[in-house]
Amino acid sequence: MKYYDKLIFELSRPGRKGYSLPENPYGPMLLPAGLGRGSKAMLPEVSEPDVVRHYTNLSQMNFGVDTGYYPLGSCTMKYNPKINEEIAAMPAFQGLHPLQDEATVPGVKAVYEGMDKALCAITGMKHFIFTPCAGAHGELTGLMIIREYHRRRGDLARTKIIVPDSAHGTNPASAAVCGLEVVEVRSTENGLVDVADLEKLLGPDIAGIMLTNPNTLGLFEREIGRIAELVHACGGLLYYDGANMNPLLGMVRPGDMDFDVMHLNLHKTFSTPHGGGGPGSGPVGVCAKLAGIADTMQVSGFHGNFGVILRAYAYILSLGREHVKMAGKLSVLNANYIKESLKDCYKLPIGSVCKHEFVFDGLVDDGSATGKAGATTLDVAKRLLDFGFHAPTIYFPLLFHQAMMIEPTETESPETLDAFIEVLRTIAAEAAADPDILHQAPHGTPVSRPDETRAARTPVVKYTPAV
Ligand SMILES: *Cc1c(COP(=O)(O)O)cnc(C)c1O
Repeated sequence: MKYYDKLIFELSRPGRKGYSLPENPYGPMLLPAGLGRGSKAMLPEVSEPDVVRHYTNLSQMNFGVDTGYYPLGSCTMKYNPKINEEIAAMPAFQGLHPLQDEATVPGVKAVYEGMDKALCAITGMKHFIFTPCAGAHGELTGLMIIREYHRRRGDLARTKIIVPDSAHGTNPASAAVCGLEVVEVRSTENGLVDVADLEKLLGPDIAGIMLTNPNTLGLFEREIGRIAELVHACGGLLYYDGANMNPLLGMVRPGDMDFDVMHLNLHKTFSTPHGGGGPGSGPVGVCAKLAGIADTMQVSGFHGNFGVILRAYAYILSLGREHVKMAGKLSVLNANYIKESLKDCYKLPIGSVCKHEFVFDGLVDDGSATGKAGATTLDVAKRLLDFGFHAPTIYFPLLFHQAMMIEPTETESPETLDAFIEVLRTIAAEAAADPDILHQAPHGTPVSRPDETRAARTPVVKYTPAV
């Protein structure tokens, strides 16, 4: 362990200080009796260099899109242009107060109106609301709009929502939070919605269906026209999960596919760094007949996460119509390039042309005793960290036991993609020659292999002193 990997409490020495305050000419100001703490707060006592090194080292233990390539599927972790950060940090925006008189902030109004217009043009919807603060929040809001639509028509029997078995986990979760019962529709062997199965589920109790297209396997639902027809004919509405819209940008619009409600993740598709619970924005778009209901949904304080909306607007304007289109094409090209370059070493369960992401099902089994199948997807993912790449999404979707879901994104150079491919080939070769290297990986990170379940269920986030 490096010296500065120590906890800041372990660096602490009584009486050491990293600051000095100007002398207080007014004398002590005592807190009212009873409001102070009974004993001194246990704070680390360290010098300025120790503080700087502590936090700088901490920041470097983290993997970020600014430090390395991040092929996380179903998450769109791409390069976010720094100019968007600069614009969001402009004092005129930073200094705004949410209770400010509307007449004093015409520029902010213009941002919201411009975004509404841009997102409607991109998606084919008629109106967007901006209060939802995450993708899942947008899903919940969209489902509340669907529920309210049926309620206003006096149709109270529609309590079920159809979700494909390949769906992102937030879909069924949002539906449950909204009080809807989730009905699962099966996928065919080709990874698409099984239309015959869907037909059996449709009836007067169906509020609608939640889909993403391309779906979570990165495949375009070719039967979407038929699916929309069937769901609408039964009286249901279509919800589109647009968290990862990149592949469709400028090419296909959910509105034209007859979706009634959708959300976008501005923090994925439209440039805002995210992850670790960072600020998000999940605006919800609706078709004309739902616009009135959408406007009644106040699901967060004030006007949503303005900073994220602003970054997204800057991103869309700086790309412009033509380059927004390029983003879609490049995200698809990059995914197919990686998929085709590696399918001899990694099992490709569904071989058709993908959109922005695809799924491998672990290593190709070479049949030998120390065969490549001796290394799991977890091993491969952990080993990638030793080469300075983030792991793809693993063990999701649940349709494949060794799923590795890769989304290269549109913002990576061919050289980066080639380097990533090369590393994955190296790892496949290691798996065949000496799989133990993989079982022990990662070898170069501050923490190697925590007990994944315990780390998630009972994380230790508090320092308890030895005394
Ligand atoms: C990320 C994602 C979501 C959820 O978005 P959050 O902002 O994390 O709540 C929903 N659906 C899909 C397909 C996603 O990739």
